[in-house]
Amino acid sequence: MAPKMNTGLDIAENLSKIKTRIAEAAAAADRAEDEIKLTAISKAHPVTHVQAALAAGHRIFGENRIQEAEEKWPDLKRSFSDARLHLVGPLQRNKLRRAIALFDVIETVDRPKLSRALANEMERAGSCPDCFIQVNTGEEPQKAGIAPPDADSFIKSCRDDLGLPIRGLMCIPPIDEEPSLHFALLKKIAARNGVNELSMGMSHDFEAAVAFGATFVRVGTAIFGERPPWKPSSQV
Ligand SMILES: *Cc1c(COP(=O)(O)O)cnc(C)c1O
Repeated sequence: MAPKMNTGLDIAENLSKIKTRIAEAAAAADRAEDEIKLTAISKAHPVTHVQAALAAGHRIFGENRIQEAEEKWPDLKRSFSDARLHLVGPLQRNKLRRAIALFDVIETVDRPKLSRALANEMERAGSCPDCFIQVNTGEEPQKAGIAPPDADSFIKSCRDDLGLPIRGLMCIPPIDEEPSLHFALLKKIAARNGVNELSMGMSHDFEAAVAFGATFVRVGTAIFGERPPWKPSSQV
């Protein structure tokens, strides 16, 4: 039986509610429900929360820190070999090798230096996780992501010059703006570059993202509750 939290948090029930809302948003947008996958963002939550989601049958997860993911995931992946782990946080070049070893999808490829290093590692390792390119749709200086005017050439060079498996685009809209404009922009960039997957939408706006073509929505709080402060070594 799935472990229940003493906070009244019921992860299985939250997952099923979110999946229902995704299905409803898909129907409203005339889309097939199975075009949209739910990435459960378990960052800062303990392994017991992840186990509850796995026990409920969920298999796609996202983390944003390499070190935290290394503390939580190797054992879980041994037990659930079909679990898929997405990196949704910034990636430094010196942690690339560790990221490639653990993650199935890297959603945050966002600059030429990183993409070149990734291509080198891919050659060395003989394989590479699926890659998404993060686009800074709001052109916010403090935020990661390639700027929209540079996106086409960056996607092309990642794919054609470096041979990276570019499967999708990802964005995190500015907190104080209407997200739909950013979702629409991401979709447009993907369409003109022939990129299929769109990772967009979080707890507060995933239904809008579905309406604008998301194929992955990234939901944390609405599944696992508010995030506790992250403590590096007390996780496991
Ligand atoms: C934390 C995070 C999420 C989930 O956010 P919620 O608001 O908790 O759903 C989604 N995407 C990224 C990149 C994140 O870092």
